[in-house]
Order: sequence, then structure tokens, then C-alpha cells
Amino acid sequence: MKDQPPQGLRYPWENPPEEGTATQVAPGVLWMRLPLPMKLDHVNIYALDEGDSWTVVDTGFASRRTKAIWRTLMDGPLQGKPITRVIVTHHHPDHVGLAGWLQSEFGAELLTTRTAWLFSRMLTLDEQAVPSDESIAFYQSAGMDPEVLARRRVERPFNFADVVAPMPLGFTRLKQGDVIEFGGRQWDIHTGNGHAPEHATFWSRDDNLVIAGDQILPSISPNIGVYATEPMADPIGDWLESCERFAGIARPDHLVLGGHKLPFTGLPMRLSQLIDNHHGALSRLLAFIDTPKAAGECFAPLFKRSIGDGEYGLALVEAVAHVSHLYQSGLATRTLRGDGAWVYQRKE
Ligand SMILES: [Zn+2]
Repeated sequence: MKDQPPQGLRYPWENPPEEGTATQVAPGVLWMRLPLPMKLDHVNIYALDEGDSWTVVDTGFASRRTKAIWRTLMDGPLQGKPITRVIVTHHHPDHVGLAGWLQSEFGAELLTTRTAWLFSRMLTLDEQAVPSDESIAFYQSAGMDPEVLARRRVERPFNFADVVAPMPLGFTRLKQGDVIEFGGRQWDIHTGNGHAPEHATFWSRDDNLVIAGDQILPSISPNIGVYATEPMADPIGDWLESCERFAGIARPDHLVLGGHKLPFTGLPMRLSQLIDNHHGALSRLLAFIDTPKAAGECFAPLFKRSIGDGEYGLALVEAVAHVSHLYQSGLATRTLRGDGAWVYQRKE
């Protein structure tokens, strides 16, 4: 969530493609963008030329506007050739949103990890008019601001079904260690965790391309959160493990095509920045919890800036991830406070 200076990174393209257009980033590889109605206002998608068809990577939110832009892209840069395969890097709605639409309207085959598919389909089917009791209990346990919690109790929560097209049965599984061919290249599949479980990334064996989704981003750090789905998840630990594993295969000349912001080179530097930033955040947090604090009281040491209403939810799940990591690593204790919040304190 934090913007960082791009030290040691290079961005070969200063500007992203305009809406409805594509930028060729390598032979047969097109970079396009779709809008998002949030602070992070865009998602990158890619199309890889198969000769008489396309493989696309990620799909944007399901909305009338995004579908219209897809149709403009299909008639324009995609030259009217069919999209026969859609690869989804991870289950978040800005990536999976229109996968089901590409399957059912255009007959595309969906390829993704098993976890990404199960999560996408489960969350899309699990429509809620108000937050579930488990979600409210989870917010309480995180020490959510009481005013925010009072509003959330009665509001329609964020629903996958509102921004993800219905997903038909059936997908093709991608997994760690597989080799897949698309866009005239062979790609090693490496799955990462932390931002999303079993997030697929693709490493070309034939040139310098890495399709990274949100596992590795250039100027923002991927949101790493804990949710009511799995309250005892340790995504910080998972994410650090992935970064360290990827550092073993990253090269400075890799051209990283991510889910947001600009393509970049300098991947080994970026991975060590991301790792260092999280270790830095964890040690600031550890210093801060010399007296017991709930996750919702830990924004200052973690984010070092004020958190607006629009970011509150993401900030809270990220704060839970960090304090819970300290707890699960044995560096902090936690006790249940009278208001239902877990409060965390550094071990002496
Ligand atoms: Zn994303």
C-alpha cells in the first residue's frame, strides 16, 4: 500500500496505454489497461498472440464499461481474432472479474490455479446483503473503529458478485513447477502467496519476460491482508517466503509485467526492497506494541501516513496480518480485551 521511490528500477515505458489501445511490450505481447473505480484506478491486462487467436492474462472488473472497453480492444488491437484462452493470475476481482464472461460469451478456456478458481467461484456465489456474523466478529477482533463498525453492520458489504461475472463450471489447473506454452514462448509457472493464495506467475524460458500479476509490483507494495475466511492465516510469512524464493530466480534484465503500474526491470533490487520494507514495518510495529494494542490501533507505525475512509478496510486487514505475524512468530503475545479486540504486546 505504500508508494516507494523506484530506486534501481527502470520503466521502459513512461506512460501506460490509453483506454482502448495497446502497447506492444515484446514481440506478440500487448499491454492494455482497464479502469477500476478505486484509489488504485486501473489494472493491467496482457494479450499474447497465438497466430490465429489470443491468450489473455487477467480481465478487469465486471461492469458494462469494462465490457465495452474489452469489445473496443477486440475490434482494435486484437484485430478481431478470438480469445481462446484466459489466464487468471489470482482470485481478486480486478483480475478474475470478466473471466467467466470470456468463457461463456466467447468460449474461452480458463486457466488458473486451483485455489484461485475455488476462491473466485466460492466468493462469487456467497452473496451477502449485510456482513455475516463471522465478518462482524472478525472486525471486532481486529479492533475496528466503532464508528466504522456501526456503519458496516448495516451496509451491503463488498460482494464479489457485484464485480465478478458468474463463473461457469470448469477450468484448467496451473500449478507450481508446471511449464506452459503461450504467446510463442515456454513459461515456468511459479506460484506465490501472501497477496493471494496460490498466485500464479509466469517466467519465460525464451526471453526476459515475467508476468507477475500482483505478486510483484514496482512502486506500491501489494496489499497483504487477513480476512474472516481464514483468521489465523499468516500471509506476511507466506509472502516473505515467496519473495525470497523468487529472489533466487530473478535477473536484473527481467522485464516484469505486473497487474498494476508500469512494466519494469530491476527485479532482484525490487524483491530486496519489498522484503526490507516488510522487515522494517515489522520492527517499527514491534517497538510500538510495548503496551497492548489492537490491529486497528497500529496504522501509524505501519503506514507512516494518515489512512482515509476509502483505504480503511485494506489498512485494517493489513494491520491484522502484521500483528498476527509477530504473534505467530512468537515475538508477541495476544489477549482478548473487554471490547472483543485481540490486543498484541511485545514479549520482553
Ligand atoms: Zn490487482
